Amino acid sequence: MNSPIYRGRLAPSPTGHLHLGHARTFWIAAERARARRGTLVLRNENLDVARCKQDFVPAILEDLRWLGIEWQEGPDCGGPFGPYNQTERREFYSAAFEKLRTGGFVYPCRCSRQDVLRALQAPHQPDDEPIYPGTCRPSAERGDRNLELPGALPHSTSRTSRSACNWRFRVPDGETISFVDGQFGSQQFVAGKDFGDFVIWQHDDLPSYQLAVVVDDAAMQITEVVRGADLLLSTARQLLLYRALGLAAPDFFHCPLVTDEAGVRLAKRHDALSLRALREKTVTVEFLRSKNYTLGDLN
Ligand code: GLU
Repeated sequence: MNSPIYRGRLAPSPTGHLHLGHARTFWIAAERARARRGTLVLRNENLDVARCKQDFVPAILEDLRWLGIEWQEGPDCGGPFGPYNQTERREFYSAAFEKLRTGGFVYPCRCSRQDVLRALQAPHQPDDEPIYPGTCRPSAERGDRNLELPGALPHSTSRTSRSACNWRFRVPDGETISFVDGQFGSQQFVAGKDFGDFVIWQHDDLPSYQLAVVVDDAAMQITEVVRGADLLLSTARQLLLYRALGLAAPDFFHCPLVTDEAGVRLAKRHDALSLRALREKTVTVEFLRSKNYTLGDLN
C-alpha cells in the first residue's frame, strides 16, 4: 500500500459545475493516492471546445479544494508531465494517431456526423455509443483479426489526409478483453459484440476522448485510473489502444455511481446537486465524503 510510485489523476471536463457524483469519485481518487503516498495529477479535459467553458475551470478547482482534495501537478501548478490542459497536448495525440495509422490499426470513415460529435466526450453508460456496423471498414479486412502488421491497410488509407474524414480503430472481432478492476473485480468484454470500431480522430481534426485519455494517462505515467463505473466498457477499448501503441496500461478502479431516485446517473440536469448548490444548503464536506448517504438525505 505504500508504493512511492503511485500516480493517480482527476480528469474533469469543464462542461459544467461539479456535482455529487464527481465529489464521490474524486474523493475516492484522492484517498487512494493519499493512502499510497502517491502523486495526484489534475488534468483539464477540455478538448470538446463546443461544450467546455474555460470559466468552469476555476470553479472546479475551487470546489475540489473545498472538498479537501489536493493535487501536486495540474494546470494551475504545473509539473514535469505538462501541459495539463488537453487543448495544449495536440502533438502527443498526433504522434499516437500516426503510429496507429502506420501500424494499420485505423481506417477512414465517412459515416454520419452524429457518432463523431459524441466521440469527443467519454461515452458514459448506459448511453454508450452504438456498435458501428462496419460500413466503411475496408472490405478486404472485414473479419480479419490480424491486421497488426505495418502496411497491412491498402495504400489509399495511408495517403488519406487525416482531417478529410473520421478515423476508426478496427477492433479485433470476437476477442475477449479482460481486466481486473480494483473495485468490481474480473471484467470481460467482447470486441465487436460489446463495442465496435470506435472513432479515434475526427474530421474536424480533433482526437477523440478514447485516444486522448490513453495518450495522456500513459504520458503522465498514471499508475491507477480511478473514475466512474460508467466507463468500464471504455476501459476495454482503451486497453486495445494501449496494446496497439505498445504502452503499458495502468490499473483501473471504477467507483460505484451516485444515481438519482430513478437510478439515473447524475448529469448536468441535476443542477440542484451541484457542489455549489449543496454548499449553499450548508451540506458539509464530511457528509459528502461519507459514502453511505442517499439523495433523499439531502432534501
Ligand atoms: N473527462 C472525462 C469525463 O469527465 C473523464 C473520463 C476518464 O476519467 O477517463 O467524463
